[in-house]
Amino acid sequence: MTVFEMIVARKIPSHIVYEDDLVIAFLDIQQTTKGHTLIVPKEPYENIFDMPKDLLKHLIAVTQKLAFSIKNAFNASGINLLNNNGVVAGQTVFHYHFHIIPRYEDDNFDITFSNNADQLNEDDYKNRAALIKAALS
Ligand code: AMP
Repeated sequence: MTVFEMIVARKIPSHIVYEDDLVIAFLDIQQTTKGHTLIVPKEPYENIFDMPKDLLKHLIAVTQKLAFSIKNAFNASGINLLNNNGVVAGQTVFHYHFHIIPRYEDDNFDITFSNNADQLNEDDYKNRAALIKAALS
């Protein structure tokens, strides 16, 4: 049983901010920034690859509602949405979830993307795009 299933089942304490039949949202214990919140499906799907489409749509719709509310509650300047899938991607709890991370001036949360553009030529981009398009069809 994941720690999030324990929260859903009220087996461990948490600070729940939203709940309906399908999803639940609660404060991330780390509070990376003030108001850092997690939204999870009540059913323990592991990652985005396992999530049923309708449930994912609902989860995203509620995420938008929470993003508005969290931004307003703390007068945040922005919001990061983060969803880690797999150990290599930084996932530590294997129960699907979105991080809703309100952003403030000088909050010291670093989400900088590395830039590899100077190592690539036009063919590299074409090949990468072609691989993704082929996998979509
Ligand atoms: P991830 O690394 O994307 O899998 O994120 C897992 C998150 O779950 C981390 O940010 C943890 O701080 C958070 N977390 C773990 N245990 C708890 C808990 N008992 N209550 C609230 N958040 C938790």
